[in-house]
Amino acid sequence: MATVSDLSLVSAPVLRTELPGPEGRAVIERDERHSSPSLTRLYPLVPRRGRGAVIEDVDGNLFLDFNAGIAVTAAGHAHPEVNAAIHGQVDDLLHYCSSDFYLPAHADLVQRLADVAPMDDPKVFLANSGTEAVEGALKLARHVTGRPNVVAFLGGFHGRSLGSLSLTASTARYRSSFGIVTPGSFHAPYAGQGTSDGARYIEDVIFRHLTEPEDVAAVFVEPIQGEGGYLVPPDGWLGELRELCDRHSILLVVDEVQTGIGRTGDMWAVEHEGVTPDVLLSGKGLASGLPLSAIIARDDLMTWGPGRHGSTFGGNPVACAAALVTLDLVERELAANAATVGHHLLAGLRRVAEHQPLITEVRGRGLMIGIELPDRGTATALEQACFRRGLLILTCGRRAVRMAPPLVVTREQVDSAITIVEDACTEVAAR
Ligand code: PLP
Repeated sequence: MATVSDLSLVSAPVLRTELPGPEGRAVIERDERHSSPSLTRLYPLVPRRGRGAVIEDVDGNLFLDFNAGIAVTAAGHAHPEVNAAIHGQVDDLLHYCSSDFYLPAHADLVQRLADVAPMDDPKVFLANSGTEAVEGALKLARHVTGRPNVVAFLGGFHGRSLGSLSLTASTARYRSSFGIVTPGSFHAPYAGQGTSDGARYIEDVIFRHLTEPEDVAAVFVEPIQGEGGYLVPPDGWLGELRELCDRHSILLVVDEVQTGIGRTGDMWAVEHEGVTPDVLLSGKGLASGLPLSAIIARDDLMTWGPGRHGSTFGGNPVACAAALVTLDLVERELAANAATVGHHLLAGLRRVAEHQPLITEVRGRGLMIGIELPDRGTATALEQACFRRGLLILTCGRRAVRMAPPLVVTREQVDSAITIVEDACTEVAAR
């Protein structure tokens, strides 16, 4: 059995039991008795330990983790520098409310995020989750513009609380049965998803038929659509949105909860486009696995006064300590690794697609890669076939699977993943 310290060096899955094994089955049975049935458990994975891009389950099976806890563990599972920072901060001070008092780790992180932000000298609000960052940005946009409405994109995912849910439009199931979400949200097709999309659709359809631009506070957009299918817009598409917003004094809010923190090979995906957002939202990978998110806004926009927004746990010192080290690692090596190893993964999957007719497209940037399949059923079958071989991936969009491994993933691990996908495709094609 692999020891804990060399787990991160494992380059291919090692399966020792059926899946799930006996320990895993016991956990699943216990969990399902009392946990909310709203949770979508995608396959019976019961992780006990993680190192780098490798997960060990409770039965000792080793998996290649190309989910990263859904694009979260940026520095990999249990990165020694991240863990050391967490332990150090836990020993010093576990919690104090940074909305009401001053904490060194909070002061350091807002400064650090301001330094790496794609706008000059912004202000930063720290929260706990992606949906909270989106909620805060909605409030900020209404506060600063005095306008009620917002525009987002079909296929987009921004969270599940009632404000962010009004922007989320990836699947109707997320809204179904919950009644009225925050009113005043309008949706346009994302890049390449209609005969007209993006800025042109907003101008021609939304501003003509649904809301005047003078009533729109913000456009919320993912620079690469995540849950919607890992869709990469063509160069210039985000720039057109920037121009549209400038023309009508609308805020451009770029949701980098999934794409940020080095995942696409740059600190932020918007950097690839050279687009400067008014507000940028970060979450997921920011603290490599601890709950933390950020609203980063132009200095002249974050004008709300004391009490207008806050959070008991937002910006807690342990998460801030993890984020400071994560940002160092991303700048030092992980964004570069995401770019080179991601390119290797993309090229390898495209080679598989050349002789595997099941794959209709491979797309992505850095370590955010989508594989398009003929239909949803095939995507799910491929996800499950990969799981049975020890590779953790997920479906997304209408008929795709996504790969978002920790940014420390190695070429050897990527080569194993490509072989597994190929093998799994052959199985699925023979169904
Ligand atoms: N925004 C984007 C782009 C996301 O991908 C997600 C989560 O997948 C969210 C917001 C919501 O984040 P959370 O689940 O942390 O609330």
